[in-house]
Amino acid sequence: MLRWAEVHLERLLLNYKTVKKLCRKQVYAVVKANAYGHGSREVATFLEKNSDVYGFAVATYEEGACLREAGVKRPILVMSSTLEEGREFLKEYELTPVVYDFTELRLAKELNVPFHLKVDTGMGRLGFLEEEWGELLSELQGLPVAGVMTHFSSADEDEEFTLCQLKKFEKFVSTLKKEFPNIEIHAENSAAALYRFNNFLTHCRVGLALYGVPPEEGYPELRQVMKVKAKVLTVKELPPNYPVSYSKTYRTKERERVAVISFGYADGYPRELSNRGEVLIKGKMCPVRGRVCMDMTVVSVDGVSAEKGDVATLYGDAITFKSVAEKIGKIPYELMCSISPRVERVYFGLQKCNAESSAGTV
Ligand SMILES: *Cc1c(COP(=O)(O)O)cnc(C)c1O
Repeated sequence: MLRWAEVHLERLLLNYKTVKKLCRKQVYAVVKANAYGHGSREVATFLEKNSDVYGFAVATYEEGACLREAGVKRPILVMSSTLEEGREFLKEYELTPVVYDFTELRLAKELNVPFHLKVDTGMGRLGFLEEEWGELLSELQGLPVAGVMTHFSSADEDEEFTLCQLKKFEKFVSTLKKEFPNIEIHAENSAAALYRFNNFLTHCRVGLALYGVPPEEGYPELRQVMKVKAKVLTVKELPPNYPVSYSKTYRTKERERVAVISFGYADGYPRELSNRGEVLIKGKMCPVRGRVCMDMTVVSVDGVSAEKGDVATLYGDAITFKSVAEKIGKIPYELMCSISPRVERVYFGLQKCNAESSAGTV
């Protein structure tokens, strides 16, 4: 194997417990987009077996169906699709749709399946606007409303606005509860869990923190679940003033040892890391030289005893998704989601990992 992503499930479980302690609610683990690149089947079945996770949240019906096919039994919430797309899947796979406009509501009525409502309290994306709430409430009578949700736009950076959204949500919920007293109520994502809301909310929807990426300062300690690694294809010593990679954006000064890593932008290593990234080989930071290519990246191994076949760590404990994202003006979500299917996922379960964790944390 030349390139792989290790998924450390024992860390996922630690992060889950940390999040649970923080939000003190039932948790929907967000596993959309293949669990942010970690593998949604593996992540969901693992959590279902090893934790008290309440359910899972995905973006599409296909994602939900795929979890059911893998044997997942707990509730699955489909957050951003249409019932037109979902109608064939809904009953066969027992998925819970999120209804966010009147077209969806009409179809939900027709299909007569339990659903969650989504209201817009300041995200400006999916959900009924405040001006529609009156009409909405009047149309809900007798329908199988199972839950209600909203989504925060700025939980990691604007407390005042977040509290404002929460208040607006509470207003809607208090009216809704008169007719539907026992529904699920959820708003928090990973960042909002830090507010430790202790109120009318019953559930939360957490993704990022489960995968070990702290959404903001002051978050309890998390462990990054994924480590991305690739092998050194070859090592050689370039002469002085020798160009490296496309467009010759780097030239050696003296003679310089370089290693060619079998990982490029097609694997999800951002091209923005050209001449800026670093990878870890034999415990040493090795700077990227020249442009990141589609399948390969060249790094300096001057003074590093690197050899053909050595393993380079592209993301891990010393090079986190968060730190790399900050360096190049991206967000960690993007970096995790872009690790391509060509990169094989390798899972470490609980037992395997106890042995491994004593071997070091690189
Ligand atoms: C993705 C998503 C979440 C999870 O957000 P994190 O920041 O990853 O915790 C929660 N709610 C909705 C509606 C989402 O789309």
